[in-house]
Amino acid sequence: MITRKPIFPNVIELNVQAGHLIGCNLYLIYDKDEWLLIDIGYEEHVDEIVDLIRDLDFPLSKCKTLLATHADVDHCQGLAKAKQMLKTTVTAHPKAADLLESGDRLQTFAEIHAQGISEPMPKVTVEHRVNDGDCISIGGLEMTVWSTPGHADSQLAFQFGNLLFSGDNIYRDEGVGAIDAHHGSDIPSFIKSLERIRDSSVEWLLPSHGPYFRKDPAMIDRVLKRLNGYLHLSDFGTCAIDWPLMKQWEQEIAEGRYPGN
Ligand SMILES: [Zn+2]
Repeated sequence: MITRKPIFPNVIELNVQAGHLIGCNLYLIYDKDEWLLIDIGYEEHVDEIVDLIRDLDFPLSKCKTLLATHADVDHCQGLAKAKQMLKTTVTAHPKAADLLESGDRLQTFAEIHAQGISEPMPKVTVEHRVNDGDCISIGGLEMTVWSTPGHADSQLAFQFGNLLFSGDNIYRDEGVGAIDAHHGSDIPSFIKSLERIRDSSVEWLLPSHGPYFRKDPAMIDRVLKRLNGYLHLSDFGTCAIDWPLMKQWEQEIAEGRYPGN
């Protein structure tokens, strides 16, 4: 048995607990014997994760469910294996559930042909489809589901008191989850999700990658300014809502104005 190192009351992060980087962040929320896991990561790490949870003296039979913040391969590839080992259920947003149940490989980033990325995405049945406002109990505690589309249309976050398990909404270095039209990204929705996080009573953000950090509205404002800029730039292709440069160019052509003319 090993000593539990909670990062907040009733919250263990398994990379922190292990003392080395396993993969994406793996939050274990517990009360008494009951526990659940937010994201599982890649299949190759499932054995290590289950061993670690057993060594922390959590009964494997008391896993309430395996939660998916969204369906990306680096968060969910191990779900089928972990579900079988733990004899538990999977919980996800309905749109993520469709991708997980069909074993989608494009929208989950398992297959990025142009970059030679080709990962398996084992199909898994999702027993619980949850959406904004739903509550998930763990022992005597409760977590509230937030739908925060933007990075993915199925992106969920989970509020637990003054903590928000914030998925791929925002990271400590002011980066955000990848914006990619093929992935269901939507910049106007992303902006709304970040505004909601900024304006909420949440005090700590616990993202799915990298360090957790105290919420700073000024920092989120800087990120929002950047994303608002993307709406009118070519950086993310069809995710922009317009491209003012083309209007200007049209005008310059009509007026016979060219560079150097
Ligand atoms: Zn991610």
